[in-house]
Amino acid sequence: MRCFWDDAQRAHAPASEFFNGALHPAADVVERVDSVLAAIGPVEAPPPRSESELLAAAGRAHSADYLDLLATAHGEWVAAGRSGDVLPYAFPVHRRPRTLSRIDARLGAHAYDTCAPIMGGTWSALLAGTGVLLAALDVAVAGSHAFALTRPPGHHAGPDYMGGYSYLNWAAIAALASGKRTAILDLDYHHGNGTQDIVTGREGIRFASLHADPATDYPFFWGSAEESGGNVLNLPLPRGTAFAAYDAALARAGEWLAEDGPELLVVSFGADTYEGDPISHFAIQTGDYARLGARAAALGVPTLIVLEGGYAVDALGDNVAAFLSGF
Ligand SMILES: [Zn+2]
Repeated sequence: MRCFWDDAQRAHAPASEFFNGALHPAADVVERVDSVLAAIGPVEAPPPRSESELLAAAGRAHSADYLDLLATAHGEWVAAGRSGDVLPYAFPVHRRPRTLSRIDARLGAHAYDTCAPIMGGTWSALLAGTGVLLAALDVAVAGSHAFALTRPPGHHAGPDYMGGYSYLNWAAIAALASGKRTAILDLDYHHGNGTQDIVTGREGIRFASLHADPATDYPFFWGSAEESGGNVLNLPLPRGTAFAAYDAALARAGEWLAEDGPELLVVSFGADTYEGDPISHFAIQTGDYARLGARAAALGVPTLIVLEGGYAVDALGDNVAAFLSGF
């Protein structure tokens, strides 16, 4: 399988995130990438693309004012006399239209949590990630499987909001840029709320997600079974879920996605379903991932795999490599 990566994605290197009442060291560390690169073998750099081409692709899934915030937030932060990572602290829960100018108001209007810090290198890393995504998408559209080593993750980013380590929604951008009937399969531990918000009601796209029950786990406000309908299927699973129950849910998701006759499969793969993941509570083992990859591959269509979560850094590479081997 052809794999794509751009070293410019390393420029996004958050120091901390705020949850459970305290600042914690960031879980989405750059070392995650080194673990994956060491395990999957040779990777290709994407061909160069103009910034306008990358922005046009991102703009298929995200609003112009949100992309402008991502591009300008760190500069405004510094201009306001701040140092360190950019984080919001106030949120307009009623989303009333306002003319927002202060950086803190703009951040709050485009975020739903305090887990997506922005630093000086975030925007350039996101543009580089978009290039990686489009290079891998080209391979999949041409009929082969491909892996985009996307980092930071993307599936929590919605049409005009960031959160959960996510800024640009790789899976949604790929689906909307592909020109193909697309099945999106989200196999991260956490519900792909941003993807769901972007693709709900979109003709020619189906979205199925296996994830921890939002009654117990982040992102809490999306992903219940009752939220299924139309082109969305949510299959929440209890904490402690191991291979057999997970594989059965995956088979069900695959059957539902196949009903729509997809020409392309986009997998949001998160290895935070791993039994040793430090922030999650499923019990998938490294050896299981090859079988799960084979189950996903049974859909029988060209597939683009993007990386979402997975925070057991030492095991992440082996878990990703095992999943890819299933294809
Ligand atoms: Zn996750």
